[in-house]
Amino acid sequence: EAKRDPGTSYRFYDRQLHISAGYQLRLEADLRNALRGKELELYYQPRIDLATEEVRGVECLLRWHHPERGLVGPDEFIPMAERSGLIVPIGYWVIEQACKRLQESSELGFAGLVFAVNLSFRQFHDRKMTETIFRIIFNANVDTSLLELELTESAMMHDPEYAQRCLRELNQLGISFALDDFGTGFSSLSNLQNLPISLVKIDKSFVQDLGKSADAEHIIRAIISLAHSLQISVVAEGVETESQLEFLRQQHCDEIQGYYFARPMPWDDLVQFLNRRNQSACLQQ
Ligand code: C2E
Ligand code: MG
Ligand code: MG
Ligand code: MG
Repeated sequence: EAKRDPGTSYRFYDRQLHISAGYQLRLEADLRNALRGKELELYYQPRIDLATEEVRGVECLLRWHHPERGLVGPDEFIPMAERSGLIVPIGYWVIEQACKRLQESSELGFAGLVFAVNLSFRQFHDRKMTETIFRIIFNANVDTSLLELELTESAMMHDPEYAQRCLRELNQLGISFALDDFGTGFSSLSNLQNLPISLVKIDKSFVQDLGKSADAEHIIRAIISLAHSLQISVVAEGVETESQLEFLRQQHCDEIQGYYFARPMPWDDLVQFLNRRNQSACLQQ
């Protein structure tokens, strides 16, 4: 018995591995088609200003309507898209789509709504990045001050000189930058002070540890006070409860994003959401 076990489990393991490699390849082929076949969609999650309770902007989050597997979230395919390089054309599609919606939002009367788009490591290091983004925003003819790009620390710190050059070029066009998942990397804000960053987003793992670990409180306090001393605004991600919200309000966090206010939603739902909020704001006046 005991001797047969390792063999059995080896074969089992091997088969799993085989399935998973084949599965990865199929998913990659499917994703190639997805880009052509209109299976990708952006969802939009509102970001709320804590002082005024106004919707300041939305984060554009990618979704994939897989013909057999249904709605697939980015954590399941972005890493693979990043490895295969598919993230580069997908990423430009995302920026184009966000620019279209930005244009549409001002036509619908939601002036001043900021559209935030995530840029992955590989996308950021694409040699044609600045020139392609320039072409996209030029063609879309949008107010670039309403376009924000979210990058992680690791994407920026891999080659700081390159990052500085790219961010400055895009910043001169009016685009602003947010540091995403802040606190999970190894750099510190002081390493980044030469970059034109206007916002940091506290990673949701810290917000969700509030009340469970005193460290989370200390880290959030430290991030907010350091960011504010550098004139950088702070968004907390992953806010799900009233008590998380209250803590963040007390700490003068600028904006929050999370299920407590709204989940990521399709464009039509966002338009309804914004209309409802505008109406109730009018009633209060
Ligand atoms: P992220 O940029 O940090 O986005 C925030 C994630 O937190 C989103 O997950 C959002 O749905 C989720 N979230 C927001 N509020 C809450 C909350 O209250 N509770 C919980 N549990 N989660 C919340 P999502 O949409 O699954 O995206 C995951 C990640 O995939 C994003 O993390 C981002 O890194 C990446 N991603 C999404 N869209 C794109 C894209 O267009 N391009 C690239 N390169 N990456 C993308
Ligand atoms: Mg993000
Ligand atoms: Mg994040
Ligand atoms: Mg994340």
